[in-house]
Order: sequence, then structure tokens, then C-alpha cells
Amino acid sequence: MPDSTINILGFDRPTLRQFFQALDELHYRADQLIQWVHQRGETEFDAMTNLSKALREKLRAVTCIEAPSVIADQVAADGTRKWLLGLSDGNCIEMVFIPESDRGTLCISSQVGCALNCTFCSTARHGYNRDLSCAEIIGQVWLAHRLLNCQTAPQRVITNVVFMGMGEPLLNFTNVVRTICLLLDDFGYGLSRRRITVSTAGIVPRIDRLRDVCPVSLAISLHAPNDILRSQLVPLNRKYSITDLMRSCREYVARDTRARVTFEYVMLRGVNDSPGHAQELVRLLRRMPAKVNLIPFNDVPGVGYERSTDADIDRFRNTLLASGIMTITRKTRGKDIDAACGQLAGRFRDRTHRSERWRHRTVELNA
Ligand code: SAH
Repeated sequence: MPDSTINILGFDRPTLRQFFQALDELHYRADQLIQWVHQRGETEFDAMTNLSKALREKLRAVTCIEAPSVIADQVAADGTRKWLLGLSDGNCIEMVFIPESDRGTLCISSQVGCALNCTFCSTARHGYNRDLSCAEIIGQVWLAHRLLNCQTAPQRVITNVVFMGMGEPLLNFTNVVRTICLLLDDFGYGLSRRRITVSTAGIVPRIDRLRDVCPVSLAISLHAPNDILRSQLVPLNRKYSITDLMRSCREYVARDTRARVTFEYVMLRGVNDSPGHAQELVRLLRRMPAKVNLIPFNDVPGVGYERSTDADIDRFRNTLLASGIMTITRKTRGKDIDAACGQLAGRFRDRTHRSERWRHRTVELNA
């Protein structure tokens, strides 16, 4: 591919229409092209028979359609599938598909690594390299659609898309929002707002902006019911406190009486799983349209946490349920291939040198 070619895989409809205007083409041609690329997975301009020959030639000269490539493809005993994807600069990210009887959820990455330093997360331990482009984010959905042999409309197999892979989506705001536009677009993936979930550690001003530009489902990685504990587990809490976060969440769902914010809560033995913590969480969420997802901790070697016992998780859930808070314990999927929440690691050069510091620490601990 010559350096001057533009990868149009990441263009949402308004951007592609602008681009076509600059090429002196009618805007509905952009709509047709989006359908070819995202609904039919076509990469050859010559196959796009409802576009004029002249336009196809123009497109071939200045643009390309390029998605990440598959480096490894693993299937877990429970059917969960994890791919290691290669990017053009040599970095690798991970993507997971979770099939269930009534839905298929694709979990995508938004950054190479993660700059936040949540103490229990594998991605965090590996450090951060860079943001993904829109082509690299939507390219994951595009690729999964092909890899899962979706002969029918894409939204029949991939019914839900969650930004719960590597990275903090709201720190790559522009590209994530463009991706969401393509996911929502009837000419693209045609998903409804409720079937797209952005999960965030709590970048409050960006949650407010997301509410204004495209209010898809929101999940908050809460993990603790008070600031002292949360600041230890999710250092970002030192910047945006629980009070600020709760205000932002309340406003996020205020305009939609059916919407609820999902609060994710990783169950760490002896850390955040006591009956007292459950009571505190009840008080915090009492007046919030909320659902709670309890996530049994998935092992990350060397971080020094253990999973709560099943009995403690059940007791915690029952306390929330008894107070009228909708609560589920998330099933651990893809454990045998390290595809579960918080276990995605990818392969990349860590610009933050965090992984080196961890290696030294582990060596010292073992010495
Ligand atoms: N940066 C985003 C997306 C991250 S991953 C966020 O913080 O929400 C999705 C979820 O997995 C988050 O709730 C994250 O806190 C959780 N998670 C991370 N490590 C985990 C682990 N080892 N076990 C269980 N859940 C984990």
C-alpha cells in the first residue's frame, strides 16, 4: 500500500460524505460505499457494481480498506473465542467474542495497552503504547463479522458490542465516538444504542460529553463503595471522586426513564467483599437507576489479589438484591484461554515502562 493512500475503513458516514464532496461525487455514493464495506465486507472496489467505473478507479488510486490482521485465534472450551490482532506498526491487541444462546457479544479494544493503573488488571500491568485509530477499532468489528462467517446481516451474530477490551475508551474519545456512529448507522452495523456499551473507569467530563453526543449504554468500573478504597484500586479516583462520578451517572440516564447505569464490581477476597462494603454500596446506589455486575476476580499472576469465595459473592449479591438493586454475578468466560475480564494483554512495546517495573518487582519478590 503506498503511503499516500487513505484507509476509509474508519470513515463514518458524515466523514465519507465530506470526502466524496471533495472528490466531486454525490453524497449518497458514500452511503452505498459504507454498505459495501461494512455490511458486505467487500474490500475490492471493482466488485462494488453500483458505483461508476470512474469512481471505483478514483477510489482505488487514493484509498484502501485495511483492517487489523489475525495473528492468533483461540477457542475456549465454553465457545468463547479470542483473537490476537496485528496492527500495521507491529503492535498487537486482543479481541474476544462471547456466544450465548440469545446473543453474541464482541468485546473490543480501544487502545494499545492502558494508561490507567488499576491494581488488579492485566492490561494495566503491561503498560500503554498508543490510542487505536477509528479504522483499527471498527476494523475489529469488521474482521469479527468476516471471521464468524456472518452471511446474514451483521447484527444477527454480533448482537452486542462492548468496549471492555484493552484500554480506556473515553481517553480515546474522538475515535471511539466515530466507531459508535458506524455501529449505530443503518448503512453500517445497525445496532441499537442499548446494544453498545462503553465501559469506563470514570473519566467524568468525558462521560458528560458522551451523554451529549451519543448516549449508548454506560458501564462504570466502580469496584469499591468509598473513596479511600477506590483510590487504591482505581487510582483515577484521586482525580474524579465517587461523588462527582455519581452525579455524572445520574445525569447520564436522566433523560431516559428506561436506562440504567451498569456498575462493575470485581470481587477481591478480603479487600472489597465484606457485608459492610455491600451495605455501603447499597447506600451509594439507592437513588441511582443502576444494575450491578459482580465480577469474580480473574487471576492475574503477581498482583497479590485472590478471588472472593462463592459464598461471599452470593452473600454480597443477596444484600444488594434485598435492597432492590438489580444484581448479577458475571459468569467467567474463556478462562482457559485467558480471555476473561481484565486478562487481555496483547503484545506491544510499553512506552510507560510499567511492565519493566513489574518484572523487577516480581524478581525481587521471588529472590
Ligand atoms: N478501561 C475500561 C475497560 C476495561 S475492562 C474500564 O475500566 O471500564 C472491563 C472490566 O474488566 C472493567 O470493569 C475492569 O475493571 C474489569 N477487570 C479488570 N481486571 C480484572 C480482573 N483481573 N478480574 C475481573 N475483572 C477485571
